[in-house]
Amino acid sequence: MTVLDIITYPDTRLKQIANEVTDFNSKLQCFIQDLEETMAAGPGGVGIAATQVGVMQRIVIVDVSNYPRLKNAKHHGHLVLINPEILDWQGMKKGREGCMSVPDFTGNVIRAENIVLSALDEKGEKKEFEMEGFEARAVQHELDHLDGLLFLDRLVSRRNDLFKRKKQ
Ligand SMILES: [Zn+2]
Repeated sequence: MTVLDIITYPDTRLKQIANEVTDFNSKLQCFIQDLEETMAAGPGGVGIAATQVGVMQRIVIVDVSNYPRLKNAKHHGHLVLINPEILDWQGMKKGREGCMSVPDFTGNVIRAENIVLSALDEKGEKKEFEMEGFEARAVQHELDHLDGLLFLDRLVSRRNDLFKRKKQ
């Protein structure tokens, strides 16, 4: 397994639209393993999209189970989501987001509070999920990457909703 390089803003590859996955072959399984490693190596990442390592395929991994602020919220643990699609959404809420591809900033973005998501797993089997709160937010953030969007593109106000990260 390999930790892949994360591409960062303003690299134009982050603006590309990713392609549907059609082959669930061993190459895909290897890539998913590498993507897992890359997410685990990052600083507190709850999700990663293939776009962030320069692979233009509709693959994301989300795992909010280790997120400290989540406490008692419902979530689905570790998820590999391929060709994901949001079927339904409800409610809107502003919340703070960060991104491994935008390491120096966080920002406030409005997302749906509840979503119904359809996606294939790594074997190509179709799954459906009802998600809420932080998990729903994380999934919407990662799906945006597949369409060439960053949280920077969705800030309510660049002046009031963009925050420089404190140096560690
Ligand atoms: Zn991101």
